[in-house]
Amino acid sequence: MADFDFDLFVIGGGSGGVRAARMAALTGARVGLAEEFRYGGTCVVRGCVPKKLMVYASAFAEAFEDAEGFGWSVPQKPVFDWSSLIAAKDAEIARLEGLYAANLDRTGVHSFSTRATLASAHEVRLATGETFTARHILIATGGRPFLPQIPGIGHAVSSNEMFDLPAQPGRVLIVGGGYIACEFAGILNGLGSAVTLAYRRDLVLRGFDADVRTHVAAEMAKKGIAFRYGGEPAAITPRAGGGFTVEMDDGGEVETDLVFFATGRVPNTAGLGLEEVGVALTPNGAVKVDAFSQSSVPSIYAVGDVTDRLALTPVAIREGMAFVDTVFRATPTSPDHDLVPTAVFTQPEIGTVGMSEEEARAQGPVEIYRSSFRPMLHTLSGRDERMLMKLVVARESRRVLGCHIVGHGAGEMIQLAGIAVKMGATKEDFDRTCAVHPTAAEELVTMR
Ligand code: FAD
Ligand code: NDP
Repeated sequence: MADFDFDLFVIGGGSGGVRAARMAALTGARVGLAEEFRYGGTCVVRGCVPKKLMVYASAFAEAFEDAEGFGWSVPQKPVFDWSSLIAAKDAEIARLEGLYAANLDRTGVHSFSTRATLASAHEVRLATGETFTARHILIATGGRPFLPQIPGIGHAVSSNEMFDLPAQPGRVLIVGGGYIACEFAGILNGLGSAVTLAYRRDLVLRGFDADVRTHVAAEMAKKGIAFRYGGEPAAITPRAGGGFTVEMDDGGEVETDLVFFATGRVPNTAGLGLEEVGVALTPNGAVKVDAFSQSSVPSIYAVGDVTDRLALTPVAIREGMAFVDTVFRATPTSPDHDLVPTAVFTQPEIGTVGMSEEEARAQGPVEIYRSSFRPMLHTLSGRDERMLMKLVVARESRRVLGCHIVGHGAGEMIQLAGIAVKMGATKEDFDRTCAVHPTAAEELVTMR
């Protein structure tokens, strides 16, 4: 049998790669991992974690206002300092990055802080010139922002740059209507920038339940975000006095200080040597894998965003763990992509699991339970903000097919409601669960 330098070599030290490397090393395997940028990957360095910290930062603006309804006076207008937030965020990210690197070390993974590419089905070449052989290779290189190549696109930024802007933009044009566009619209609006969100269709968050989309867009608009629907940028031109003029393809123009494209992400497969060793790619450039994350070359597997299945951190981690079970624990495990709960950290937040009403109706008769109400916090704060709760229930089996929440704490609530939905709970199971009072979540078990 061939002797290899490593049992496993992982390319990419993000959510999926680090988890797979550590779990494989714990089985006694000899594991190498290459990371070309920073340990922790997108989620830790320029995704979930800094994003959530910035969501927290931006939410204070309303908390100061809401406090007045409860008897507090805030004598001076609170002042926000962008560079203080960025410095605090950077320190936390550096701490987490250090933990990721230390945990790799502790489990005995050999880390190489450099770029790696494939040299053959069992061989990895590092940018340093070293070459290593491995019985198995795991591609976990994630994705990167996609920006349409319009004139002047070099003046625009993506989410990669948003976490390190030297100064807060006064006015920002955000292009796109997905997770990142909507989350950053809330962050920048809360921190005091004037935000315009340009989306080429007529309602943001395509694919989510229509009631959720309508509700969250209306609440975002109430907070001051300007939606510009039905057009996308055609060209970006710098203005003499600073800022940019963005020419839209519907004939309009937008003047702004910053143009931020949040127009999706593409798998990081370019230049990896995948095609050269025979790894099949999907039409959009993702590594094509089977149910066990195995590519068309038997020794090469792939997990996470590079496979373009469900681009979420917990999913990349589970795919990494399923890969280790399959290859190193002799327990073939297919990662489960069904009924994955997710949150969009818009303001207000979205928590959702399962089917939208539209998806469920296409499959059979359903009953809809919907409640839109003013949360108790806002009885005294006076803020005009409503929560939405919605259950999509199969008429015959009574199974809850979808649960959708918009409002404060929706991400926390959906993690727990997700367990019930995953277990196959019926509407009657929800109903016979006693309410926790007074909470917003009690609405989930009291809707009739
Ligand atoms: P990544 O985490 O991207 O890791 C890939 C790593 O591979 C990177 O570190 C990269 O530098 C490295 N690499 C690439 N090529 C090479 C090479 N040739 N050699 C060596 N190293 C290489 N998900 C959530 O669940 N919740 C959220 O709130 C959330 N928020 C997000 C916010 C933003 C702004 C973004 C962009 C994403 C967010 N995501 C969120 C998605 C989440 O970050 C990704 O799904 C997750 O990071 C995917 O993990 P991964 O291991 O596949 O890839
Ligand atoms: P999304 O796929 O969510 O959204 C992309 C948006 O860009 C869509 O509105 C799309 O429009 C639009 N778009 C695509 N191409 C163009 C174009 N050429 N011109 C104009 N608009 C365009 O991607 P994101 O970048 O927002 O996020 C990537 C992924 O990262 C998410 O799907 C999610 O999986 C993950 N993520 C998760 C988060 C979380 O869990 N909270 C937070 C952030 C990211 P259309 O609808 O017309 O296709």
